[in-house]
Amino acid sequence: MLTGAGVSQESGVPTFRGEEGLWRQYRAEELATWQAFETDPRLVWSWYDYRRQLVSDSEPNAAHLAIADLERGFDGFTLITQNTDGLHERAGSEAIVELHGNIWRARCTREPCACYQTVCELTENPLSEIPPLCAECGALLRPDVVWYGEPLPMDAYERSHVVASSCEAMLVVGTSAVVHPAASLPLVAKHAGAFVVEVNTAYTPISALVDATLLGRAGDVMPEVASRVLEARGEAERASADPVSNSAPA
Ligand code: NAD
Ligand code: ZN
Repeated sequence: MLTGAGVSQESGVPTFRGEEGLWRQYRAEELATWQAFETDPRLVWSWYDYRRQLVSDSEPNAAHLAIADLERGFDGFTLITQNTDGLHERAGSEAIVELHGNIWRARCTREPCACYQTVCELTENPLSEIPPLCAECGALLRPDVVWYGEPLPMDAYERSHVVASSCEAMLVVGTSAVVHPAASLPLVAKHAGAFVVEVNTAYTPISALVDATLLGRAGDVMPEVASRVLEARGEAERASADPVSNSAPA
């Protein structure tokens, strides 16, 4: 399973694209960069503080809950998410690979301190100090997220690649499939023989390449998908546990 910002849209967390992604007059692409942070860390942290408050006032929606149900129903289920909001975890998902980090963590930016890049939980909400500072050395903390132009965390990327190239099926939910390298994971899965289905309110660049696109809101489509998949799995398990009734008539 691969998810993007569209999964959280019905929880009231805006995606980055279009009008709803604007904060004050800024586009997300102007704020989610190292250059923006270096130029004005207070501005960038004010935006994150706003997003963190928005997320903490939000609840996981029906799509998050259906995805957590799928995990409980399948051994070997992995959720690869580009979301940084922590809503999957709050919905009960456990096997999560976070490709783009998490807004509830931060890390020290002072090189070459011993604490450089050390990750800490940052749960205070709203932040009492903007920008927040490292408790060890007093330097600026940055959000523990991946900004535009930055590489993905190596372990998360490698894990997601292993999962994509070895899974039997992949659901791709609420991602515009334009932010690489995450966007290439459905194609890696397809290439390796997996059945790939996307769920989105609109067609995307991968729509022509996947096995099926279910057009609709994730909160409407995913509960239906999860219940049908879990039902089909239950039937298959019952059939294999009862070979007599399953055998062809003599
Ligand atoms: P994205 O590239 O994942 O695009 C959002 C996609 O969701 C679009 O294709 C849109 O058609 C679809 N969509 C919108 N509402 C939907 C719904 N209700 N149901 C199903 N699909 C829906 O995300 P982005 O906004 O372009 O952001 C790029 C990156 O920025 C993300 O990968 C993530 O790292 C970060 N981001 C995270 C969050 C979050 O954590 N909630 C929110 C915004 C951006
Ligand atoms: Zn430090």
